[in-house]
Amino acid sequence: MKIVAFLCTWCSYAGADLAGTGRNQYPPDIRVIRIPCSGRINPIYIIKALLEGADGVMVSGCHPGDCHYLVGNYFARRRFVVLKQLLTAAGFDENRVQFTWVSASEGARFADVVKDVTQKVAAAVEHEATQGENARAQGDGSLVLTQGVAQGDGSLVLSAGLAQGELIPLCKKLLEDGTVDTVIGFQIGGEMGLSLPYFVSSPDEADKFVWNNRCVPMLADYLRGKQGKTAIVAKPCDARAVVNLIKENQLKRDDVYIIGMSCDGIADSEGKLLPACADCTVKTPPVYDVLIGEEKGTQGENASFPNGLRSKTMGTGSPVTQTIEPSPCLDSDRFQREMEKCILCYSCRQSCYGCYCKTCFVERGEPDWQTAEPDIGAKMLYHLGRAMHLAGRCVECGACENACASGVDIRYLIKSITDFIEETYDYKTGMDLETEPAMLTYKADDPETGFQCFGKSENTSNTDTEGDITNTGGVANV
Ligand code: SF4
Ligand code: SF4
Repeated sequence: MKIVAFLCTWCSYAGADLAGTGRNQYPPDIRVIRIPCSGRINPIYIIKALLEGADGVMVSGCHPGDCHYLVGNYFARRRFVVLKQLLTAAGFDENRVQFTWVSASEGARFADVVKDVTQKVAAAVEHEATQGENARAQGDGSLVLTQGVAQGDGSLVLSAGLAQGELIPLCKKLLEDGTVDTVIGFQIGGEMGLSLPYFVSSPDEADKFVWNNRCVPMLADYLRGKQGKTAIVAKPCDARAVVNLIKENQLKRDDVYIIGMSCDGIADSEGKLLPACADCTVKTPPVYDVLIGEEKGTQGENASFPNGLRSKTMGTGSPVTQTIEPSPCLDSDRFQREMEKCILCYSCRQSCYGCYCKTCFVERGEPDWQTAEPDIGAKMLYHLGRAMHLAGRCVECGACENACASGVDIRYLIKSITDFIEETYDYKTGMDLETEPAMLTYKADDPETGFQCFGKSENTSNTDTEGDITNTGGVANV
């Protein structure tokens, strides 16, 4: 077996050394890579190792509180926990990736950890193979969408004209009195009723603004780099994206005027609610300068139910319930199936407000992450790497899946970690301007979900790092 072991030089690497000098034997399956700190591990290293054929990956750093750089392993812990959740959602057996802490004085523990990791990885590889065979024997793994207690066909009545009566005079006034230099909103003109982005700097042009449920495009991304003060006609997801861009120092709050639009969801060309809107629980922009439409709260009381049961009140007022029943399907098969559809055009990245790196990791030469061929491994690396970059940053707008001409449903993967982060760290992206983004902070007592602790070590904290310590801006180096 091949297990890639990333070991922090200050603790675990020294622990491995001690295991050697102390004659503590362990299986010869690990290939050690020495790293300066567990906090320096880019999750893409781990994803790449698995995709390149490693049976397992082990990461070991200093015990919480013992980090040579004080807090590197605290930041690493959140990344590892989220990465494990992502890999599990993509169908990897959870035991193929193992995280643990070993100090420089724990040679015997290091040997025990390696023995345990080796056994678990072997079992995981076997389990994955068996599960794959069983799932393939049971069916094609497709999701079955069935109507539950449906009282309508789920279609929306296009609400052209809604709120326009308030929107146009407001935009004119903002431009006339100089509150803003530009307003970004929507105008009609796209194919099949699609509303298009519309930039207006003169009050005379404001009559063309529209607000309807074909306002599909996300407008938040147009704000970055814009000169002067700009007003944005913001759906709740747009407003959340604006808030997150402010937190990531991409925008200044004073340069943006948020015209919050209360929203029941956006429709596709056939009048059906877009999938992301069907999942959405934020009906009112959480942050705005002025709100158009009624305050609907952020968590519609019928918005979500466990076990995939969803109930929504649509524009027609007809309650519609849909039950999603997964047929026998291994998550890895689902992921694989979606990957086969992908043609690596990167439209999902281009449409996402959160993908604004000048050079995406897949296009960087050093290190050269991506192969020249758009094979399945290259697609997996891109989607898993991108999902990690969106951890704690996705605003659930669905722009990525709306942009995909190949019909790839990859939002489920990002949603799995978005939901996990909300449950684990009580953080929902872009809901307020104050809360520190989940992946840019930590708590000393963060849960170690999925970690292999092998019993508590005697040699724990020697540094007083109680309480929360927070990174000071920028995007998490994941
Ligand atoms: S998921 Fe769709 S939009 Fe994204 S790269 Fe693949 S084909 Fe392109
Ligand atoms: S990942 Fe998709 S759903 Fe999430 S913010 Fe980006 S475009 Fe929107």
